Amino acid sequence: MEIQQNYDLTKLNTLGVSAHAKFFTELNNEQELKELFDLAEFKQEKKIFLGGGSNVLFTQDFDGLVILNKLKGIEILEENNQEVSIRSISGEIWHDLVSFSVDKELWGIENLSLIPGTVGGAPVQNIGAYGAELKNVLENVEAYNIVDGSKRIFAVEECALGYRDSVFKNKLKGQYFISAVTLKLSKIPRPNISYKLLADYLKENNIEVHNPRDISGAVIAIRSSKLPDPAVIGNAGSFFKNVFVNDEKLKDLQKSFPEIKYFKEQEQIKIPAGWLIEQCGWKGRRIGNVGVHEQHALVLVNYGGGSGKELENLAQKIIDSVYAKFGLKLVPEVNFI
Ligand SMILES: Cc1cc2nc3c(=O)[nH]c(=O)nc-3n(C[C@H](O)[C@H](O)[C@H](O)COP(=O)(O)OP(=O)(O)OC[C@H]3O[C@@H](n4cnc5c(N)ncnc54)[C@H](O)[C@@H]3O)c2cc1C
Repeated sequence: MEIQQNYDLTKLNTLGVSAHAKFFTELNNEQELKELFDLAEFKQEKKIFLGGGSNVLFTQDFDGLVILNKLKGIEILEENNQEVSIRSISGEIWHDLVSFSVDKELWGIENLSLIPGTVGGAPVQNIGAYGAELKNVLENVEAYNIVDGSKRIFAVEECALGYRDSVFKNKLKGQYFISAVTLKLSKIPRPNISYKLLADYLKENNIEVHNPRDISGAVIAIRSSKLPDPAVIGNAGSFFKNVFVNDEKLKDLQKSFPEIKYFKEQEQIKIPAGWLIEQCGWKGRRIGNVGVHEQHALVLVNYGGGSGKELENLAQKIIDSVYAKFGLKLVPEVNFI
């Protein structure tokens, strides 16, 4: 396998920030995965695996080895009248896996249509959208320990999946290479139209849900009309996580901010981070080459030529001002490298 030096990562992260990797290589097949663990650069240097680069911020050059995951393959492991287990190799594009499932009329990931990135990136933050989460369909994650190369299968309970969180983003951060993911999808119709925006879209467009394609099509239409395309303007989707508070804290906040926006989700109260950011006057603001999107306060953008440091500084300013006004601490969803 080829190792390149001083490799430009600008096109490998959707924020489009310029950063260089001291060493760079690609994984294209099983053989290269085996070779990787014996590479001197792999053993000696610090390292990071990269999928679609849609959830990373390179704050500086990477002084080590960047490994781009392009390992592919999707297979049906087993099925009965009700369910199907699908195993996908981690370098598959997530949306290609959604299309594969939707084509087979399998229910479970149609609401997660068009989320950028790879299958391997999906469990890292338990991707979620339009009322669904990976957690609901994940069976297991296969991963290699990057120190000794041993393989481990993480059952879904061992992945500690939470809101945009997992053991791979937390306790075991940077310690495993996710090589494959197995999902359990349903042959029995299980339409999930709990998310209001999706339900409204289906109603307004007189779409009756008969198969997963109906939901997938609606999600694609909504996402395409709402979310900024990284090919047009550099971004990583939602830059911060939403904030969850208890009843007491909400009541406290309502004293100073009676108009505060919130949603009750199961036992918790969610305050949209975008609303908090907007209230602090950040929406549409630009500082140098970076800024906050004009329509989406939760999306930080690179207008072109922006550096990771500029984005890091902007993110910190936003965190500070939200804290000063509301006493709430925003946490980035994006992984700072
Ligand atoms: C326009 C836009 C919209 C988005 N919308 C959503 C959304 O609706 N919901 C949502 O949840 N997310 C959303 N995201 C965020 C992003 O798409 C997801 O987090 C995605 O799963 C990241 O996958 P990736 O392959 O690009 O990961 P990368 O950005 O390449 O990596 C992210 C992290 O995972 C690690 N990683 C990646 N692959 C592996 C692997 N094989 N093994 C171990 N570690 C690995 C990396 O080291 C890094 O720390 C959006 C992003 C954009 C740009």
